[in-house]
Amino acid sequence: MVSQISHFVGGRKVAGTSGRKSPVFNPATGEQTGEVALASTAEVRAAVAAARAAFPGWAATTPLRRARILNKFLHILEERTPELAAVISAEHGKVLSDAMGEITRGIEVVEFATGIPQLLKGEFTENVGTRVDSHSLRQPLGVVAGITPFNFPAMVPMWMFPVALACGNCFVLKPSERDPSASLLLAEWLKEAGLPDGVFTIVHGDKEAVDALLTDPDITAVSFVGSTPIARYIYETAAMNGKRCQALGGAKNHMIIMPDADMDQAVDALMGAAYGSAGERCMAISVAVPVGEATANALIAKLEPKVRALKIGPGTDPEAEMGPLVTRQHFDKVRGYIDAGVAEGAKLVVDGRDFKMQGYEGGYFVGGTLFDNVTTDMKIYKEEIFGPVLSVVRSPDYDTAARMINEHEFGNGTAIFTRDGDAAREFASQIQVGMVGINVPIPVPMAFHSFGGWKASLFGDHHMHGPEGVRFYTKLKTITSRWPTGIRSGAEFVMPTMK
Ligand code: NAD
Repeated sequence: MVSQISHFVGGRKVAGTSGRKSPVFNPATGEQTGEVALASTAEVRAAVAAARAAFPGWAATTPLRRARILNKFLHILEERTPELAAVISAEHGKVLSDAMGEITRGIEVVEFATGIPQLLKGEFTENVGTRVDSHSLRQPLGVVAGITPFNFPAMVPMWMFPVALACGNCFVLKPSERDPSASLLLAEWLKEAGLPDGVFTIVHGDKEAVDALLTDPDITAVSFVGSTPIARYIYETAAMNGKRCQALGGAKNHMIIMPDADMDQAVDALMGAAYGSAGERCMAISVAVPVGEATANALIAKLEPKVRALKIGPGTDPEAEMGPLVTRQHFDKVRGYIDAGVAEGAKLVVDGRDFKMQGYEGGYFVGGTLFDNVTTDMKIYKEEIFGPVLSVVRSPDYDTAARMINEHEFGNGTAIFTRDGDAAREFASQIQVGMVGINVPIPVPMAFHSFGGWKASLFGDHHMHGPEGVRFYTKLKTITSRWPTGIRSGAEFVMPTMK
């Protein structure tokens, strides 16, 4: 039975009318489980118009009331985490415990957003001039859009909409068409929590829907997370259409292992960071850089048996450490990268290409893969693979390792494992990457800090959630006021100055 996945407009599910649909699969079995409607430009225009109509009422709702609705939503999410995790796992393929982890990280942003009365407090200066006062405040932008990737179908939308809604905006989400169902649960639970109709909207779709959002005059800002070529396109097109934009792109995250690192700790950290979620994380470590030959040899010796022993299975298997890849197309792409690494002369220590999952022969499983002796001119080093493939690039010294990271196109996350405070401090200060871990493999900032990379990993000025999120979703207004009892000085034609 193939389910029909509809849009969510004006507070209810709305079937698509474009006649275009996209299949949704269970990655563990390869079976089609759903069909998602792809919105036409006209459908997007109508959805945005409904959101625009809801905006004045929502913007006028006090921040405290908005926070209370988010607080109810938070409780619903906490109670129903297993239900949402099952939906994520069934369409994405990640193991249930990982899906629960993603929801927890999303819930933290909702928790942050419930502090909105505090976060929106402005500034006030009495007597900027004689009997003249100034205050500044932040106001919502209007209807804002979020366009999100397949790899975190709940968490990435939750990086965006809790903060956007808390600030008084209406939000239109365009989820990934590969795992669209989780977003509908979020929409229904927001409504149940008391969110007025039209304040949260979902339009499913592909490039046509995205382009309709980017050109809609009623969309004031666009948040995007996905691959770098699309992020660049979204940023440029949104800017050309006069919209504020933050577009987060792809990644190639390196982890330096210094000779003094606790090797067991580093190897455990690498295993989770490289192979968790089958490597389909923008903060996954895909390059390990051991410093010195002895460190490299020790690292490979400890990694190899662990990679071979990875427990792989469908998302529903509680024992599984990683599941399948998201689609057949992505499965073929990742295997193609492994072929390319072999052709380029990297040493294939563990080959995941022929992994077969008994009972799940139609699933998109690739086994854990480990390359040694990777060099910086290879395609498997330069490009994002987004699969369970770890490349080891041996470095003679720290400076070469750090230069390699700084010269890479991407700058999302990175980590160093060391016991040397000097090296760690130098790394944190000088490395050209947005999120840095010191003995922390996946340094995803908590909700009250902000998430974002540098270089080709982020286009725009603002990172997501935390204080940057509040700035992104509001515009600043500064008011200067004087009351009639002030001094009368007659008309002045020079630039106003405070005497
Ligand atoms: P993707 O770029 O293929 O898709 C992202 C979104 O863009 C989807 O909603 C999709 O429908 C839409 N889209 C795709 N092609 C389009 C086009 N031609 N025109 C307009 N819209 C289009 O990304 P994905 O495969 O879903 O996700 C994986 C990518 O996301 C990886 O590169 C990963 O690194 C990145 N990612 C980055 C972060 C981060 O924080 N920097 C977080 C998660 C994922």
